[in-house]
Amino acid sequence: MLTIPKDIMKPARYSGIEPNRIMKDPARGTIRFALCYPDIYEVGMSYYGYFLLYGLANSLPDVWCERCFAPWLDMDSHLQRNGIPLMTLESRTPLHAMDLVGFSLSYELNVTNILNMLRLAHIPLRSEDRDSGPIILGGGPSMLNATPFERFFDLIVVGEAESKLVEILSLYRTLRGAHRADIVRELAQLDGVYSPLFRKDRVRRQVIEDLDSSYHPVTPPIPVVGSIHNRFNVEISRGCGNGCRFCLAGYGYRPYRERSLETIRNIIDRGMEGTGYEEISLLSLSSGDHRALFDVISYIKEKYSGVSVALPSLKIGTIREDEIGIIGDIARTGFTFALESASSGMRCRINKNIDLDVLLGQLPLLKKYGWRKLKLYVMIGFPWEREEDISIIREILLPFEKEHIDINLSVSPFIPKPHTPFQWLPMESEDILNEKILMIKKALKGRRVKVRYRDAKTSMIEAIVSRGDERLAPMFEFLLKKGSKLEAWRESFRPELYTEWFEKQGIAMGEYLSEKSVEKALPWDFIDTGVDKSFLTSELHRAETGDQTGDCYSGCAMCGMECKAPLQLKDSALGAEPLAVELKPKVLFSELQAQNAEPAVGIKYTFRYGKFGDARYIGHLDTMNILLRALRSLGITIRTHGKYHPMPKISLSDALPIGIESTCELLEIETTMGVLVHKKTVEEMNRVLPRGIKVFEFIKGSLQNMVKDYSYLLVTEKTVENEMWKLRYNGKQYFYVWKGKGVKELWSRGEFERIIKTEDRRIHGRRTDN
Ligand code: SF4
Repeated sequence: MLTIPKDIMKPARYSGIEPNRIMKDPARGTIRFALCYPDIYEVGMSYYGYFLLYGLANSLPDVWCERCFAPWLDMDSHLQRNGIPLMTLESRTPLHAMDLVGFSLSYELNVTNILNMLRLAHIPLRSEDRDSGPIILGGGPSMLNATPFERFFDLIVVGEAESKLVEILSLYRTLRGAHRADIVRELAQLDGVYSPLFRKDRVRRQVIEDLDSSYHPVTPPIPVVGSIHNRFNVEISRGCGNGCRFCLAGYGYRPYRERSLETIRNIIDRGMEGTGYEEISLLSLSSGDHRALFDVISYIKEKYSGVSVALPSLKIGTIREDEIGIIGDIARTGFTFALESASSGMRCRINKNIDLDVLLGQLPLLKKYGWRKLKLYVMIGFPWEREEDISIIREILLPFEKEHIDINLSVSPFIPKPHTPFQWLPMESEDILNEKILMIKKALKGRRVKVRYRDAKTSMIEAIVSRGDERLAPMFEFLLKKGSKLEAWRESFRPELYTEWFEKQGIAMGEYLSEKSVEKALPWDFIDTGVDKSFLTSELHRAETGDQTGDCYSGCAMCGMECKAPLQLKDSALGAEPLAVELKPKVLFSELQAQNAEPAVGIKYTFRYGKFGDARYIGHLDTMNILLRALRSLGITIRTHGKYHPMPKISLSDALPIGIESTCELLEIETTMGVLVHKKTVEEMNRVLPRGIKVFEFIKGSLQNMVKDYSYLLVTEKTVENEMWKLRYNGKQYFYVWKGKGVKELWSRGEFERIIKTEDRRIHGRRTDN
């Protein structure tokens, strides 16, 4: 059983007992691969790309891929203080004992976490200092310019890593046993892979050609601690054809590719069965561009009552009026529109082809169908920006306020990212960015708009790292020495350390933020994204003159990808089978409303379940969510209450403190009409629950009807000076009984190895655990 110090917050993060985690026999010959996410559990466990690689690597019979996340500050100190190496979650194997360790980097400020994880794992930081131990791989969106931090990796995969991972693991299998440097050299020969030790003149970004037939995870491990997003992710498309000139994702993931309706339905069915989530996120850079989006949403609505849909970003003008009702009904988390700039002139320059009037014209309908909260994104700091381009935000928001639609406005500084047409542009100075933020604050003073500003300083550091070169490598080592880690978390971010390093080195930060000449080579030029440099420069010139370029859906702008995307799109959409039920939006919305109207009375069931071993670290609410997900994955739907934020109708016994085990926790649910719980349900639930959570029985009725007299069994190997509590001694452990409040304090005293809550009727002379 795992023993985690009592002062560690959210200990379940480190338990590794999630449903759907993959366990294998580490038999001789199995390739051991640790897939690391350089942020904490709750963030990594929400990331689709992470589970794509986890599932794909584990689909190979002789590879065991395990997870590892950055520890939170308290666990970090515990590991350092006690010389405990960082380990994988599944088998608790130190990272330094693995064959390969891979990091997926999607955010520049997480580089220090990678260094810190290597240090905690007792692995030398620089590739040139490693002559034994695992091969360190790097991948993810940030690898389109890995120059500043490449020397911390042995190998870097550029582009969509799933296209390379199987190849790397297969080649590694044949090379195993050879000298480490020879293995690295051989692997670095693969297309799209390079090593800082064996440089290449040109590295081609890897792209999955046929998204529809590529791997998609359907049974990702389910978090046992509330993660950032608790939902099943379905990647409906990849890439974006809109050509926004500032957007790295738009250029770095070209071309646009869709999954067909048939494939998406299949993924949803298998995913809902495998996870039981109550929300599905339809991942896409611009979900409204998917031509089967409405059919997908209708399918979810019809087949999975009570399940909501999250749409990460919608392009204005892509949702038809007849679709507003059904989307508003099923998407509960609000809607996000990336406006990018309040000024139409600026939107022309950045190639954001949207017609704001379309959205404004739809506002009464949005309101009618429950779209009461909208999130709008804008950027500030484009080189051509004038005061009126910013202050116009005041007028733009007026119609929303008139319709009583709440607006959350998110304001971020523009960062000129590599591989985009704006890669040569300067970044606005911190002072001017702050002035512009003040301007927005003034313009919106007294208005019913919530505004969130991205800090200018943070954006500047992000810009420096993303536009950086090899001179920055020592900066990360300096930051590590000074204790920088978890920098994506505001409380841990220390920008003054970056300033200190630049001053010590005599390098001006501005060098990385200033305008770049189109004639000069850039540090990331050796990465071939597939988009011609001449296309990027012509797009930059069109921005200067305010000329727009059409999207890939209406015609090819010949960017160099040679993908003929419009034809592919057509084929993909035609390839989808029609829905089993012919859907006509307007009729369907009312029909579905009637179908889904909940009956006045449901059936109440109460389950008795236990929590043992490592599961004692799972919190009360997380345990409840795990049980509800298990029920949903078995097709047991629970009645809800509340119109706009429906909540399941459930009741629970009192919260069990973290660290305490129990044999007698209660969960009452009210099922929807026609849904029955039977004996086999208990068996099936135990099959999908994490190790340590076990359902014992259920009754038809409320939890008030269950026995609720309980005591606590206190287990220790030492005697305790309290004869009143004493129950028995089994030759190894003393058992005491305690009844009353304050069990949390008793646990934190640290006298007892285990405390187990047990029904009074079961306590005397019986085993109390399973
Ligand atoms: S080749 Fe044409 S269709 Fe393909 S990504 Fe480039 S501009 Fe778009």
